[in-house]
Amino acid sequence: MSFSDDLDAWLAQAWDPDLTVSQWWQRLAAAGYAAPTLPCGFGGRGLSSEDAHVVTSALAGRGALGPPLGVGLSLVAPTLVLKGTAVQASRFVPRIVDGSEAWCQLFSEPDAGSDLASLQTAAVRDGDEWVVDGQKVWTSDGHHADWGLLLARTDPARPGRLGITVFAFSMHQEGVVVEPLRDMTGTAEFSRVTISGARVPDSHRIGEVNEGWSVVQAALAQERSGYHPTGDGGLVRVHPGRGAGNLDRRAGDAAGDPASSRIYAISAAELDDLVDLARARERIEDRVVRQQLARLHTLVVLGRLHAQRGDFPGSANLAKLLFTATYRVARDVGTTVAGPDGMLADGLVPEITLFSPGPSIYGGTDQIQRNILAERVLGLPRDPRPPQNAGSSHQG
Ligand SMILES: Cc1cc2nc3c(=O)[nH]c(=O)nc-3n(C[C@H](O)[C@H](O)[C@H](O)COP(=O)(O)OP(=O)(O)OC[C@H]3O[C@@H](n4cnc5c(N)ncnc54)[C@H](O)[C@@H]3O)c2cc1C
Repeated sequence: MSFSDDLDAWLAQAWDPDLTVSQWWQRLAAAGYAAPTLPCGFGGRGLSSEDAHVVTSALAGRGALGPPLGVGLSLVAPTLVLKGTAVQASRFVPRIVDGSEAWCQLFSEPDAGSDLASLQTAAVRDGDEWVVDGQKVWTSDGHHADWGLLLARTDPARPGRLGITVFAFSMHQEGVVVEPLRDMTGTAEFSRVTISGARVPDSHRIGEVNEGWSVVQAALAQERSGYHPTGDGGLVRVHPGRGAGNLDRRAGDAAGDPASSRIYAISAAELDDLVDLARARERIEDRVVRQQLARLHTLVVLGRLHAQRGDFPGSANLAKLLFTATYRVARDVGTTVAGPDGMLADGLVPEITLFSPGPSIYGGTDQIQRNILAERVLGLPRDPRPPQNAGSSHQG
């Protein structure tokens, strides 16, 4: 039996919309389909990212709820497998994969975004613990996270990327204040996190003291390789963890809830919806609209082909750039077709339009992706940088 026959057979008997979200995620995790690229033994199947996309498409095709949303699965679990201790991986990874715990990424600060290595949040050793003070911002899902992957400066004498350490940081403790920040989509997906005298045990340190930059690079590589240019192909995912309130919902309701399905990437499904919109608004014969739709179609196909090429130097950066370009073209098609009144209704056009700046910022801006391609892949001369942080550009 081929891999996809096996998957289809499993899905036919395993997907049950009457399960709770938590029960469904446990089933998905036990079969290795929640995080298919993780190694066997860590809740995965050791599949390539292309085969993982086959899993995503099969779940979407059946109308099943997708694996837990957010950085836990996409970034933290693979980083812990690569860089954590065996004890850390067995403590954290299974609960990420089955969605029982939620994570956030505590990287960016008010003065440290693209130049992540200028971060100032400090962790000071106190016996078997570290005491943390500082502020993080843009923390997606911070308000319902149980844990944060925290970057902190552990040697203030060392500038830039030296002297940074990574921790698995509990969000449920005194000294952690999470303030949701509302963006122009009307939702508050990210937060400002103020940390004052909070504590983290040394056993939750990931990697060596002051050598967190290699952990950061591993995490960012994971994050970027997770950007499939055509996204999840319409698969609905919801947030994990007790705080998000999804675990006890009926899985079928979560999968069918329009509020669950933010459009994080443009796939053939969104393209079809835009074609339908152009027909409904009698703009399908308009030459400009046709050109834009053809361009979007080309990008969606290119995205799929790019993903099929597998991994090569710069592939993740190219995938991210293709993903953001596709999103912007979809925004342009949508606003051209719908016109100004498109902004007055709920639905595809306002959602894509208002969210469209986000993808080209998070996970490293488009300019940073291009710098990485130019300097690290093509070997072009380095971009000038401020002397104290030379070599530190990131980001996530
Ligand atoms: C929706 C969303 C979710 C996010 N979620 C998270 C999260 O969960 N956790 C987290 O830690 N962060 C998160 N971020 C933050 C994100 O990683 C940063 O916003 C991003 O890295 C850019 O940093 P900045 O906002 O400080 O902009 P800056 O770094 O100040 O950049 C401003 C502009 O200057 C350009 N620029 C900067 N440096 C260079 C350079 N060397 N060469 C050329 N151009 C340059 C940038 O491309 C950008 O256009 C999120 C952001 C968004 C929009």
